[in-house]
Amino acid sequence: RTMDQVTDTGALARQLNVDPYWAPFTSNRRFKADPSDRTMISAEGCYFTNANGVKLFDGSSGLWCTPLGHSHPRIVEAVTKQVRSLDYAPSFQVASATTIQLAERVAEMAPEGLNRVFFANSGSEAVDTALKIAMGYHRLTGNATRTRFIGREKGYHGVGFGGMSVGGIVANRKMFAPGMVNGVDHLPHTYDQSKMAFSKGQPAWGAHLADELERIVALHDASTIAAVIVEPMQGSAGVIVPPIGYLERLREICTKHGILLIFDEVITGFGRTGWAFAAQRLGVVPDMITFAKAITNGIIPMGGVIARQEIYEAFMSGPPAAIEFCHGYTYSGHPMAAAAAHATLDVYEEEDLFGRVRALEPLMEAEFHSLKGEPNVVDVRNFGLTAAVELSPSAAGPSMRALSIFEAGLKQGLYMRYTGESLAFSPPFISTEQQIKDMVAILRKLIRDAA
Ligand code: PLP
Repeated sequence: RTMDQVTDTGALARQLNVDPYWAPFTSNRRFKADPSDRTMISAEGCYFTNANGVKLFDGSSGLWCTPLGHSHPRIVEAVTKQVRSLDYAPSFQVASATTIQLAERVAEMAPEGLNRVFFANSGSEAVDTALKIAMGYHRLTGNATRTRFIGREKGYHGVGFGGMSVGGIVANRKMFAPGMVNGVDHLPHTYDQSKMAFSKGQPAWGAHLADELERIVALHDASTIAAVIVEPMQGSAGVIVPPIGYLERLREICTKHGILLIFDEVITGFGRTGWAFAAQRLGVVPDMITFAKAITNGIIPMGGVIARQEIYEAFMSGPPAAIEFCHGYTYSGHPMAAAAAHATLDVYEEEDLFGRVRALEPLMEAEFHSLKGEPNVVDVRNFGLTAAVELSPSAAGPSMRALSIFEAGLKQGLYMRYTGESLAFSPPFISTEQQIKDMVAILRKLIRDAA
């Protein structure tokens, strides 16, 4: 039975056997108690349709990954064409031409000096790849003692053992403590509600927190530290925007001590902040950038790492026919993903959609900040085409206020993300001004109803 044969969506919801399905990052019991609102049947443009037949504005671009909305005809066409010409080619010892061309294109979009591209299939894989590159780089340049990594509290770098270890979201870590990568320390997070609530864009307070890196370096000695990894804007923790001057300071300290700086741009990469990479918006150039999500508009998974040329060159040593970096995935640089990426980048470019993000940012800011004063709203944060609304804790338990608004949204035409008590938004770049206003109007009603 395929979904196109289903005409009575409510009947479908009643028929689905959800028992064998184990949902990621989800309360499975809550989901299975009433799956129909949460079960998507189709999507087009900026909207999903769920199993109850409710059309939902995709206020979070899926998981921050579909800036062009759903089923974009250009990507559908490119992927269809690719599957007929070269459906798959390994990336070990041989390669797909489409993928090689994509590397050139990504390198051109990246900040100057970062021009070597390694492909993976997800953000988690991209992060683990970057950490391995960092460790390998130091070993190959005569600094084999540089093995420690510094992440940040509240950071999210995916769910591989490497990404989890440098990540700083407690719930994601506590069950797996024995598997943690050795030698990881964390910078403090930069969120202090008492000092920055309702800041618009980058908060003025907090740059000094980067100096904590000096304390960590003093504790372990620079000669033991391989890399610092941070999201320029923390997405999964609920849109925590970098304080003015903070990343600049991190850059300075890393340079001073020979520590590589990795920006995890899995969310911010490919336009979310109005530039190809947040590094460009902020004018801070790291040594590596990880990317995923928006490069293919979420249609086919892809991730990767962009490294400085010197890092790549360090690997080009040893016997000329030897494999220099013993790392890679069966689906690294999958031609289907590469085709989806080319079409996605074409549309971003032809329609100047990063420019559109910059143009929509003031509206996004004004609309979301107009929620100040609504019941239980204790903070609003925004950056590029992202925003988060922080709610006061609920007596009913952790996340219960945000969860109930998320669930009510699924009945009233709005899909959003929630984390802790924050509701997070990252609408498609193709959203109209009216769609953004409508999204915030629904949200306002949901917040009032919940109170
Ligand atoms: N890094 C960051 C900054 C992310 O936001 C995410 C996912 O949201 C990841 C890594 C992990 O990506 P994936 O879920 O594709 O493994």
